Amino acid sequence: MHILNYINGTMQAALSGAILDNFEPATGQVYGQIADSDNADVALAFEAAKAAKESWANTPAEEKFKWLNALADAIDADRENFAIAESRDQGKPLWLARNEMIRAAQNFRFFATAAMQFASESHATENKAINYTLRQPIGVVGCISPWNLPLYLFSWKIAPALAAGNTVIAKPSEFTAATAHLLGEACIKIGFPAGVLNIVNGLGPKVGQAMVEHKGIKAISFTGGTATGKHIASIAAPMFKKLSLELGGKNPNIIFEDADIEKALKTTVNTSFLNQGEICLCGSRLMVHESIYEIVKNRIVHEANNLKVGNPKEENTRVGAIVSQQHYDKVLAYIELSKEEGGTILAGGTPVFPEGFESGWFIAPTVIEGLSATCRTNTEEIFGPVITLIPFKDEEEALAIANATEYGLAATLWTENLTRAHRMAANLEFGIVWINCWLLRDLRTPFGGAKSSGVGREGGWEAMRFFTEPKNVCIALS
Ligand code: NAD
Repeated sequence: MHILNYINGTMQAALSGAILDNFEPATGQVYGQIADSDNADVALAFEAAKAAKESWANTPAEEKFKWLNALADAIDADRENFAIAESRDQGKPLWLARNEMIRAAQNFRFFATAAMQFASESHATENKAINYTLRQPIGVVGCISPWNLPLYLFSWKIAPALAAGNTVIAKPSEFTAATAHLLGEACIKIGFPAGVLNIVNGLGPKVGQAMVEHKGIKAISFTGGTATGKHIASIAAPMFKKLSLELGGKNPNIIFEDADIEKALKTTVNTSFLNQGEICLCGSRLMVHESIYEIVKNRIVHEANNLKVGNPKEENTRVGAIVSQQHYDKVLAYIELSKEEGGTILAGGTPVFPEGFESGWFIAPTVIEGLSATCRTNTEEIFGPVITLIPFKDEEEALAIANATEYGLAATLWTENLTRAHRMAANLEFGIVWINCWLLRDLRTPFGGAKSSGVGREGGWEAMRFFTEPKNVCIALS
């Protein structure tokens, strides 16, 4: 597959002609090329987005609704090809990629209806004045997304940006640009208005940074690592750009002694290892009350040892390949670090070389115990199929350990005690708290992290508000 830029309604190579190799994680081999764009390509995309800005902003909501639904229809109609491309490009199991393609289409449908329903406030000031808020499109906005849930997160940004009346320059991760490319092709097929959505490909520090630095791009919606987010903020903040940052996590998955343990364990397998643990919401710290610690430990070790690692195309594969050589090396280095920090590997801890995929980047689901709650392994994001077990003695200690990282994305807790659940939820320093569930999503809810996990929220009206500029209009009544 040769991945091109989609600019002004056409597929184009990078202006410089430069390309990057694209790797298949399951084989470790190059299987295609991707446009290696730079600031000249961003400038070209900007001109297209700027030219389309007025017309898209003034397109009636019914028309925007129709176009966003048409994008959803295009993904649904070609779901299997999208899923195959996603799985091959990212390394995730094909069955999982199929689910994610359903969600990518849903993102467009959800924000299609938001375009129709979005409204703004009015404030009556006694009998002196009436204020109303205009929420106008920002203009040209930038969307930058990561490699873990490629089309799912790409569409999660683009859809509200378009629904709110902006034109968009979007950049998928250079590691996983295949489905964004297919989306560009789908735009051409359905005759999506030229210049309204533009997709540029290439390296983050080159083309991504050119987007962040571009004076005409007025808002940046970014999902990725905390260090990258910090760097982007340092460039965008002095330019007074609107910024939404969805960053890393080190999430606790807390099981109390009064939990429905079977239910907790069933979900915990996914919370720990779904998508090779490469989900920002994964519960990488499994915290267990000391009275049930041995039971939970034995069960999760058993489950981890029995998850099939290998060929992403096979239906019974539970853990696919790690996205890139560089990330594979990073995850393995963290496993080594955990040993140096005094951890004991209870399951996994090694690379896996599945038959027929010996040169791919696979890591066995790994369970580690015996580490202090404040060591690097327990406070830094690993973002792989690696969890640590941490016992706690009571609610107070559970809370202290859970909050003891710089991250604050998502916490999961398992308890049948209603008052404890509410108490914990109120005191956990996280943007999302799941009680007796995990990754149960309602697209209307505010989504995002506290502390170093981000700034701002996505989802529902939060996203529509981010992608619009509020203007208060005050009319005197006398
Ligand atoms: P990353 O920060 O390396 O890259 C993310 C995107 O930013 C990519 O498209 C990349 O090309 C681009 N980029 C890199 N440097 C840039 C720069 N200087 N200027 C502009 N753009 C630049 O992150 P990643 O490794 O692709 O993704 C993994 C990270 O994403 C993890 O930390 C994970 O927790 C996080 N994540 C967070 C959420 C969330 O909702 N909070 C969701 C998914 C992933």
